[in-house]
Amino acid sequence: MREVCAGRVLPATELVSLDACTTRVLAQDIAADRDYPPFNRSVRDGFAVRSGDVPGRLRVIGEVQAGHQFEGSVNAGEAVEIMTGAPVPGGADAVVMVEHCVRHEDGSVETDRGAEPGSNIAAAGCEARAGEAVLKRGTRIDFSHVAWLATTGHSAVSVYARPRVAIIATGDEIVDIADTPAVHQIRNSNAYSLAAQVRRAGGEPVMLPVAKDNRAATAELIGRGLEADLLLLSGGVSAGKYDFVEAALEECGAHFFFDRILIQPGQPLVFGAARGKFFFGLPGNPVSTMVTFELFGRAALELICGMNDAPLPLSLATLTRPFRHKTGLTRFLPAELSCTEVTPVEWQGSGDIPSICRANAFVVADATRGEYAAGDLIPVLLK
Ligand code: AMP
Ligand code: MG
Repeated sequence: MREVCAGRVLPATELVSLDACTTRVLAQDIAADRDYPPFNRSVRDGFAVRSGDVPGRLRVIGEVQAGHQFEGSVNAGEAVEIMTGAPVPGGADAVVMVEHCVRHEDGSVETDRGAEPGSNIAAAGCEARAGEAVLKRGTRIDFSHVAWLATTGHSAVSVYARPRVAIIATGDEIVDIADTPAVHQIRNSNAYSLAAQVRRAGGEPVMLPVAKDNRAATAELIGRGLEADLLLLSGGVSAGKYDFVEAALEECGAHFFFDRILIQPGQPLVFGAARGKFFFGLPGNPVSTMVTFELFGRAALELICGMNDAPLPLSLATLTRPFRHKTGLTRFLPAELSCTEVTPVEWQGSGDIPSICRANAFVVADATRGEYAAGDLIPVLLK
């Protein structure tokens, strides 16, 4: 039985080992098995003291290194030499850094620095309390989450199964990548770029044959595609005489949520549902296909993957040169982002794959603003 959460049917779950779980989506909360840190931990090499005793000269009564405990406690006028990661002895409430101390020949230690209670100590439980859910299900696991799973002793973890995403490229001009195209033909790049994007977003691509530009053949393949968890089509959604995708979807009982968006590239994007599955009809120009998947398909897929949310990786950067664009549509233009500076790259329009290969981001040009100057801040979508 699949679980339903906030109206969403969540994917089935499976157990994967810790070394294979990166990029998967957690299907369980991961709570702290004890307080973190489990003891008052020194975060510096130095001397554990009573904060009221410093500045001053103190008798050193022993030492404690990481992985050991000091038996006894620090009384007035005393200090214990302590290393990073070691438990702070009872009685002490501060650690003075070794760099701020002088050892005398009689073994005592002196510092001219004062210390606040708690300084250089990570108090027991300050990072997480025993039982506290630090990782929520629906989180995509990255390296920091792996550290937490390891810390809490998980050698395996429950994750959601990867949704199957059917991919159908369309077009009479499209040939297989192994073929030598005639002059009027092109190889099928969209199915492969989409498969790569699907994998990155956490799905399992299922590549179906290319649909010829006729309604019956397209509808037949759509029927097969709707057996997957999500269906992606590329091409055939414009207003051309041989664009049959929407008609074929209708034949399969599709309900359309929208069939046009005010962006470029990607204006003819179609989104809907049929037979209980969502589909996207992505415009066929390769850059349009890529951009619309990143903006819409990816978010949908991430939610189908069981993720809690699907934020766009947008940030702001400073333009290195002025540029203009025609208002009316929000444009996603290939660009090179370097630290906080961004430079739009030359491109010849939405068929220009080489320009996208040179880019590592897209500048997002506002539909109501035609001109940007060097030094202006502009939103940037990471590639
Ligand atoms: P369409 O959206 O079907 O009108 O296609 C728009 C442009 O994208 C045309 O120039 C197509 O040849 C091209 N195109 C469509 N599908 C693909 C594909 N699978 N791979 C590469 N280019 C494609
Ligand atoms: Mg076409």
